[in-house]
Amino acid sequence: MTSLKSESGSTEKHTFVYDVIVVGAGFAGMYMLHELRKIGLNVLVLEEATGVGGTWYWNRYPGARCDVESMEYSYSFSNELQQEWNWSHRFSTQPEILEYANHVADRFDLRGHIKFETRVNSVEYEAGEKQWLLRSSSGEEFYGRYCVMATGTLSSVNQPKFAGLDKYQGDWYVTGRWPHDGVDFSGKNVGIIGTGSSAVQAIPVIAKEAKHLTVFQRTANYSIPAKNRPLESNEVDDIKNRYAEIRKQARENRAGIASMKPGLNTAMSVSETERHDEYQRRWDEGGTGFTAAYSDIGTDDTANFTAAEFVRDKIKETVNNSVTAELLSPTNTIGCKRLCADTDYYETYNRVNVTLLDVNVDPIKGLVKEGVQTENNVYEFDIVIFAIGFDAMTGALLSMNIKGKEGLQLRDIWSDGPQSYLGLSMAGFPNLFTITGPGSPSVLSNMMTSIEQHVEWIRDCLSYMEAGGFREIEPKPSAEERWMSHVEEIAANTLRYTCNSWYVGANIPGKKRIFMPYAGGIPPYREKCDQVAASGYDGFNIS
Ligand code: FAD
Ligand code: NAP
Repeated sequence: MTSLKSESGSTEKHTFVYDVIVVGAGFAGMYMLHELRKIGLNVLVLEEATGVGGTWYWNRYPGARCDVESMEYSYSFSNELQQEWNWSHRFSTQPEILEYANHVADRFDLRGHIKFETRVNSVEYEAGEKQWLLRSSSGEEFYGRYCVMATGTLSSVNQPKFAGLDKYQGDWYVTGRWPHDGVDFSGKNVGIIGTGSSAVQAIPVIAKEAKHLTVFQRTANYSIPAKNRPLESNEVDDIKNRYAEIRKQARENRAGIASMKPGLNTAMSVSETERHDEYQRRWDEGGTGFTAAYSDIGTDDTANFTAAEFVRDKIKETVNNSVTAELLSPTNTIGCKRLCADTDYYETYNRVNVTLLDVNVDPIKGLVKEGVQTENNVYEFDIVIFAIGFDAMTGALLSMNIKGKEGLQLRDIWSDGPQSYLGLSMAGFPNLFTITGPGSPSVLSNMMTSIEQHVEWIRDCLSYMEAGGFREIEPKPSAEERWMSHVEEIAANTLRYTCNSWYVGANIPGKKRIFMPYAGGIPPYREKCDQVAASGYDGFNIS
């Protein structure tokens, strides 16, 4: 394999030339770098952070951990790696996952090809040269014949825009940008805004340390006990012995998780007792596989209601104060918003030092010097935490001012929602790829399974381009339109539009309401991607 421009350019002019520029050094960017080096391309990764790990570098809030089992939420591409690495828990903590990311970076000699503390804020296609020009916030320029966006789907934090934040005299933190040296909550009055997955993990841990914790809830979320525990050496050995088979099962599962075990029956085809026993069995087992109990929980209102009602009953059994229990009981369909997995979330509301407030009854007006001001009260806090999520799927991409052919701005093209062929590539933006982009299973799956599939597809595509001496690949607008209609059709046949989730952009004011990931599951999606590649990239123009 030969590369057209494989040597670095003049560092004096701060201009760098590569075959491929990858943006982001999370799990996606690291694996992309590894695979592209393997096929002989000269690659540079640009990363805003000071280290690798992406999500696990930034989200250091108390209680942060994965909710896909660690033995599966890990790379499968190297058997040596998966055999030598030992996870301590069923769901490991953020520090352990970050340690794993660092181990991978060292083991595969990746660090020397990553430029840290480099935020990309402009990305422009030079059609004449058929190359991408990326500019960093400090003015450096990087050229690549190809550009791969490994910028993450949950990496652009929803920054708090509450009025008066600048007047607040206490400390405030955002879960997705947590300080590296931790936060001491002891003896402090703490307020937390948000009750999504991040808050559900953080609340029980902070409540144990703080003097008092006040939770501001806008929408109650369903949470299933994670039943986290240390892994036994015999179960680890068993999984390691069967890893090849388990990883294959993961690739064949709609969510990319071998241990998910989807129920094949519909909920109403079994008796009420059988259904209750199955929900109880999954509740005891713990984790987000709960909603996979029946095949129609995600598509049928009646089926969904049975699962939702089971969880609401559990909340009422667990939480002593009936008013608090009612407030914690979600009213939307289960699984419409991302299901949470917790350790003692509902139990935490039985503590005397925890208060739950409903911002729908008493809306937040903003912050004042003492703390949070609502319509009816001022709540004084030493610390306020914003656990208000992300501008998911599109935020990181749109923040880079990506400009394609003929000055096309991605921001304009996506003003009515993201458009992409297979979540991998966009018409008008040649030689640019997105890992786990909108229109792919992405956030509806074990992201490791999806990341590996996308990276391998992009690697093979670039091998094909190089071997054929091609210079440009770009999806046909017609193929992109057909794919996005299919993505929409699949989502419309589910209960996915029945709530205000970040999947539809509802958490970001003004964002177009459109279901962004592909809800058809990994197997048909992978089949489609494989068919496209096998047919010589059907749906793409290659020149
Ligand atoms: P990220 O890890 O988000 O990495 C993207 C990187 O790109 C970041 O380092 C960022 O700094 C960098 N970047 C972005 N824009 C720029 C720019 N303009 N210039 C330079 N650098 C840039 N998924 C699961 O499957 N299971 C889980 O249990 C799970 N738990 C999660 C827990 C939390 C708290 C969060 C927030 C997400 C979780 N996810 C989980 C989703 C998670 O994001 C993915 O699993 C995975 O880590 C994504 O990897 P990535 O490399 O694609 O993106
Ligand atoms: P999130 O799910 O979007 O939750 C944000 C919370 O903040 C919601 O409760 C939201 O309420 C609330 N909120 C937002 N703006 C608000 C406002 N102006 N006023 C009051 N409340 C406001 O974000 P997240 O908890 O960070 O999780 C995002 C995703 O990251 C998850 O869904 C998951 O995919 C991933 N994640 C996974 C784990 C894990 O367990 N492994 C942990 C953390 C995150 P509304 O619901 O009303 O919008």
